[in-house]
Amino acid sequence: MLRRMSSVDVKAGIISVLERVEQAYSRRPPTITTLKPQLVAVSKTKPVEAIIEAYSTGQRYFGENYVNELSEKASNEEILRNCPEIKWHFIGHLQTNKINKVLKSPGIDMIETVDSEKLANNLDNAWGKIAGNDSGPLKVLIQVNSSAEAEKNGVEPSKAPALYKHIKEKCSNLDVRGVMTIGAFGFDYSKGPNPDFVALMKCHAQICEESAVRPEDLQVSMGMSDDFEKAIEMGSTIVRVGSSIFGYRAKKAAATATAETTN
Ligand SMILES: *Cc1c(COP(=O)(O)O)cnc(C)c1O
Repeated sequence: MLRRMSSVDVKAGIISVLERVEQAYSRRPPTITTLKPQLVAVSKTKPVEAIIEAYSTGQRYFGENYVNELSEKASNEEILRNCPEIKWHFIGHLQTNKINKVLKSPGIDMIETVDSEKLANNLDNAWGKIAGNDSGPLKVLIQVNSSAEAEKNGVEPSKAPALYKHIKEKCSNLDVRGVMTIGAFGFDYSKGPNPDFVALMKCHAQICEESAVRPEDLQVSMGMSDDFEKAIEMGSTIVRVGSSIFGYRAKKAAATATAETTN
């Protein structure tokens, strides 16, 4: 039996976020020709019932940033039964020893966080071994450390075009679709445009130029609950929104976090 979500109306959350996505998209200047944004509902720490409720509104893309949580939710029987068309984006840091677990998760659609040639090569090899002959290449994004924070993952912005070329030329089991950033937390918008979004759009332009890709053919994943509208106005094509849909998220318990790094 499904437990009713008591405090948070997930359906209303999805509908309201989709409306805000539309409105922000309509404000985007016509000179920016990237695609219409797609909503990835970030369900980390939230229960299976919340995901099923979001799915019932038509939402198909969901994001998780911990390997074990993704694997468990993607293989959950209720999810498999109620959400046959669900598509998962992995949005967390991916260690080599966890690659198989992520790639074997049913419905895995995209890895948004490829930040080195080594990880790309390992994903390429693993997907080649796991995927049946009829499943296409695995979609990936290049994670860019646009805020140059030491504790954040991602390639330096200036190295993104080379990593893009590497994946395009050397990783035949991968389909590199674009760039992604998490960015600095809590930017004060009275100071002007968010420098993380500026930096990622610059990466986007550089890759388009160096690899002869049309802007509308290269995805840009940026924007979360606090700033997805700003991101869309600047060209974002994938927004990753969690708390505005599913409600406040308690900090991940220390015990769970430890299990995550040791399993
Ligand atoms: C948690 C998370 C999000 C969503 O954050 P909210 O502020 O809840 O919308 C987006 N992207 C990544 C990589 C995350 O880890």
